[in-house]
Amino acid sequence: MRHVVVTGAAGFIGGHLIRRLAADGHTVVGIDRRPVSGPAITVCGDLSSPGTAIIAALRDADAVFHLAGCPGVRTRGPHIARRRIRDNVLASALTLSLTPHATPVVLASSSSVYGGARRGHDGWTPSHEDGPRRPRGAYARSKVALERLAALRAARGGRVAVARPFTVTGPGQRSDMLVATWLRAVAAGDPLPVVGSLDRRRDLTDVDDVVEGMVRLAVRGVQATVNLGTGRAHSLRDVARSVSVAVGRRPQARMLPPTTDEPDATLAHTGRCQRLLGFVPTTDLTALVTRQATAAGIAPPVTSSRVAATPVRRRPPPPGRLPAHARG
Ligand code: NAD
Repeated sequence: MRHVVVTGAAGFIGGHLIRRLAADGHTVVGIDRRPVSGPAITVCGDLSSPGTAIIAALRDADAVFHLAGCPGVRTRGPHIARRRIRDNVLASALTLSLTPHATPVVLASSSSVYGGARRGHDGWTPSHEDGPRRPRGAYARSKVALERLAALRAARGGRVAVARPFTVTGPGQRSDMLVATWLRAVAAGDPLPVVGSLDRRRDLTDVDDVVEGMVRLAVRGVQATVNLGTGRAHSLRDVARSVSVAVGRRPQARMLPPTTDEPDATLAHTGRCQRLLGFVPTTDLTALVTRQATAAGIAPPVTSSRVAATPVRRRPPPPGRLPAHARG
């Protein structure tokens, strides 16, 4: 029996991933400390203090997607430093040590390890996987620590791939993220909170493509670090325009001071993704934001002309299924 484990299965990306894996015919075990809704056998527990059910699930897995973590570059709140170490580093170290070396593991790192794209003579230079990591804040540093754990597993002969997703966007996005925050604000008639400047740019990546990339990392047995981004950066002004179209209102902006944790631009180099995974994510920003708004119930009333204009999400060709026994 195929037995695929997804940690962080109650989360934004994890929820999409378990639905995709189940639709592909896999038996999915979702581990999370929160209740998991969706087509997965649920193991409710904390990976930083794993009980017998978690230990057994990881031991018996044919593949593990490790997404559990404390996300968010700007996340604040009580004990945030401790939570980042516990969930991004300690829980990951335990997850890796409890997963046999022959079992492929896909780890969710983050584009934040780059500290942003560099400015070249003619625009922004995409961040390449082999380029320097310049983490700006504690979240990004915790992901660098996670990547060190991955390198250690690989050096010891363990199977591991590292995904670096770029600003994942789509239905069910975490409430602290850009598009979710702005959709909520505009639906409430409030101005959009803008950190720094509307000229800041983000490589926003469709959650469906991020899931596709993670599945392909496992299916193709990739053992490398791969960006999951589009190679195209949208300005926050573009995002505001898409939010306005999706919700049918023209919001004002409320400027907030810049933070040192936020780079001016993020931009993925996509060559390795194309070479190893056989596709590159693409984002139709307005269609993506509209999908997210519709899922959140805050899109304007649907008219027949809107229905006709609403683009249908094109899914890349299926990469095949995880092998019954993905162990090598
Ligand atoms: P999310 O917060 O929606 O999901 C994370 C889930 O992990 C939560 O359900 C949480 O309960 C669970 N979790 C955390 N620590 C745990 C622990 N110790 N034991 C059990 N469960 C635990 O986050 P997301 O946006 O879905 O992100 C998933 C992963 O992808 C994270 O590791 C994040 O850092 C990474 N990532 C996300 C993005 C993005 O744009 N969303 C970008 C780059 C990387």
